[in-house]
Amino acid sequence: MTTSTLQTAENPRTDGYHLAVDALKLNDIQTIYGVVGIPITDLARLAQASGIRYLGFRHESDAGHAAAAAGFLTKKPGVCLTVSAPGFLNGLVALANATRNCFPMIQISGSSERHLVDLKQGDYEELDQLAAAEPFAKAAYRVSRVEDIGLGIARAIRTAVSGRPGGVYLDIPAAVLGEVVDAAAGAATLRRVVDPAPRQLPAPEAVDRAIELLAGAQRPLVVLGKGAAYAQADDQIREFVESTGIPYVPMSMAKGLLPDGHPQSAATARSLALRRSDVVMLVGARLNWLLNHGQAPQWNPDAKFIQVDIAPEEMDSNQPIAAPLVGDIGSVFDLLAERAKPGQIAAPAAWRDELAARSARNVAKMAERLKADPHPMQFIGALKAVRDVLHEHPEVYLVNEGANALDTARNVIDMQVPRHRLDSGTWGVMGIGMGYAIAAAVEKGAPVVAVEGDSAFGFSGMELETICRYQLPVVTVVLNNGGVYRGDDVNPLETDPSPTTLMPEARHDQMIEAFGGKGYRATTPADVAAALTDALAAGGPALIDCAIDPSAGTESGHIAHLNPKGITVGNIASPEQ
Ligand code: ADP
Repeated sequence: MTTSTLQTAENPRTDGYHLAVDALKLNDIQTIYGVVGIPITDLARLAQASGIRYLGFRHESDAGHAAAAAGFLTKKPGVCLTVSAPGFLNGLVALANATRNCFPMIQISGSSERHLVDLKQGDYEELDQLAAAEPFAKAAYRVSRVEDIGLGIARAIRTAVSGRPGGVYLDIPAAVLGEVVDAAAGAATLRRVVDPAPRQLPAPEAVDRAIELLAGAQRPLVVLGKGAAYAQADDQIREFVESTGIPYVPMSMAKGLLPDGHPQSAATARSLALRRSDVVMLVGARLNWLLNHGQAPQWNPDAKFIQVDIAPEEMDSNQPIAAPLVGDIGSVFDLLAERAKPGQIAAPAAWRDELAARSARNVAKMAERLKADPHPMQFIGALKAVRDVLHEHPEVYLVNEGANALDTARNVIDMQVPRHRLDSGTWGVMGIGMGYAIAAAVEKGAPVVAVEGDSAFGFSGMELETICRYQLPVVTVVLNNGGVYRGDDVNPLETDPSPTTLMPEARHDQMIEAFGGKGYRATTPADVAAALTDALAAGGPALIDCAIDPSAGTESGHIAHLNPKGITVGNIASPEQ
């Protein structure tokens, strides 16, 4: 390894900055996403000079989301670098979101003088960052001595990627970064983590228990979650699904693990599959709100669950798990293949036919909806155009957030390749768009299309400048209906715009032009298709502002039922009425 340490003096010395960079390089960290300022500017400079790619953002939240997405895509921790207090706090949303989504990420923040913070003497950007980070991270560590930098970084890396991956906070006080030590002694403190995410195997009897359940099932179903995508066990999963004939339903970020058009996909008969299945095998998917906690009426109340997950505490968190398979997905599927007798697990034809019939009916219904081409443009029309163009470009990474923009795109745009869809995830969070898109472009060197509701886009829109500065192949498609959910809500007092109203006449395409990117305005699906085709061919930063009917969209999209049902919701009357 080429170290960043200054070795030229007769008495070679190094400091905390150099040791931090050397420790990251020693552990193959190749990219840092961040926002510079006191006290970490020189850390970023030095990282860059030492060959680590540094991507400078406009807001720490976006840098953090990029680091989290990098973790999901690569199985290595993405690193986000922030300044102290406010910058640190801005990064915390992303750190918490990474932890909730089980993405490995490390937020490294500089911090103020410990003795001033602890006695609350009012230092510049004073905050007890370690304590603040603790509830939002898988773990939080502070390095208090320069000779512990290597240890701190090694611990952060192992904690982020081992077991259930998550976000780790690493606090490095400014004084530690600036501390000077003997170069050889400093170098001797660094360590390379061996096998940071070791394989974890379930016991043979746990595997046999699951095999027996599946073998006796009349209506088995596999649910693939984003943990299955993360695990990069694509071949084993596919082999299991195809050799057993079990129908499967992909969660949104598991789309493409098997191509969406796969004959065993029950995505287009999802409700029936959940309601009728008698043995459900969850693979890297939690029975959380996204799966209605495994409860009736969405699920068969008599269903038995098998859960494949690396986190033992996930078992029984919602429904009783009849066959827990605690281990990493690759190892679990290796063992299933090894221990099941040929033909022992086979999905009955009647069940497969039942789902296929429902799928055919639903696909025909959807085809009718897709055929319609109303004006002004609706979400579905714009997204059909995006889908048709992306059919020709399966290598494109798709980022997706919004309410209706998310729900509709998830149903309309099918995925062909694993880990090519990144979206709002477990929290249903808005603001991941540009950060995730930048990470996909940087980590994979591939084109990215970010399909964004106009409201969702606003949270990270300033990163268009970042995309243009680094000339990244990101095409942002803004579905602009002029509002949060929809753009036609009115304030009964006729003063300010309503709480959900944005500007329908906003021209997001002109925003990217301010930074030298290519802007397009689309008012019909044909415009959308032409613009996207052109932008992908050009291969540079672009934004397509799609004028969507302001009355299109439903409040809260598919999750309107999560709004509390007070007497006034959606029915606010003016005082005069
Ligand atoms: P989705 O939202 O797609 O349903 P979740 O985020 O709810 O997915 O679930 C992902 C699950 O995958 C988590 O419970 C996590 O512990 C698990 N997981 C992550 N990586 C692995 C792995 N390599 N092997 C097994 N389980 C994993």
